[in-house]
Amino acid sequence: MSIFPARRAPDNLPRPVHWASAAVCKQPDVDPDTFFPVPTDPLAVEEAKSYCRRCPVQMRCRTDALNRGEEHGVWGGLDEDELRAVRKLRRAAAAKQAAAEKQAAENLDALAKAG
Ligand code: SF4
Repeated sequence: MSIFPARRAPDNLPRPVHWASAAVCKQPDVDPDTFFPVPTDPLAVEEAKSYCRRCPVQMRCRTDALNRGEEHGVWGGLDEDELRAVRKLRRAAAAKQAAAEKQAAENLDALAKAG
């Protein structure tokens, strides 16, 4: 036994509840495999989406999946093709934004040099 006191935080501190704890797919009667259907099986994909449609954390789940770059499964009510399409749109929007910001910076430089 150490002569030093244990250096642990008390275990009775309040902790934030993770959003995923409210997820429909975390309920004990829901098979997690449901959310990884064969992409070419529309009925299985639709079954997974039907759970997501009544999930209270659907948008949070979708955002997290998109940010993580999830490539497999149904997340936030979107299947693999839909997740891929949204990521493509996001990349295009980010590229457009970057180009606009670059153009604005160049315009400011030109104004500064002229004036
Ligand atoms: S939206 Fe996300 S968290 Fe909710 S059931 Fe679907 S996969 Fe699970």
